[in-house]
Amino acid sequence: MNDTFDGGCLCGEVRFRAVGAPNWILWCHCQSCRRHSGAPASVFVAFEHKAVSMTKGKITKFNSSPGVRRGFCARCGSTLTCENERFPNEAHYHVGAFDRAAELKPTGHIFSEERLPWLHVQDG
Ligand SMILES: [Zn+2]
Ligand SMILES: [Zn+2]
Repeated sequence: MNDTFDGGCLCGEVRFRAVGAPNWILWCHCQSCRRHSGAPASVFVAFEHKAVSMTKGKITKFNSSPGVRRGFCARCGSTLTCENERFPNEAHYHVGAFDRAAELKPTGHIFSEERLPWLHVQDG
């Protein structure tokens, strides 16, 4: 599989391209992701650093907690990435950043214990 997934921020200042299949795609229900995205839950697409190249601009990053860096567009504020030093070889991209997000379907959940009680997602 040699798929190419292009993505970027809302304003177009930041663009990137991921090549190949992601390592995993998962829902994250943690409070930190909720704060960063403003959404009730996030879906992350994990790509190896070496699978992704920036095609325009750069992702601005800040440390949200020890060992965790979150990325966004400095111009429009779009939520883009989360990196955890426990997974040094990959970055986790918010699924909504990809042009073809419909093809990036999550297969499970993490931090389910922090899920908002009124949020119900149908798997499958
Ligand atoms: Zn932007
Ligand atoms: Zn999270």
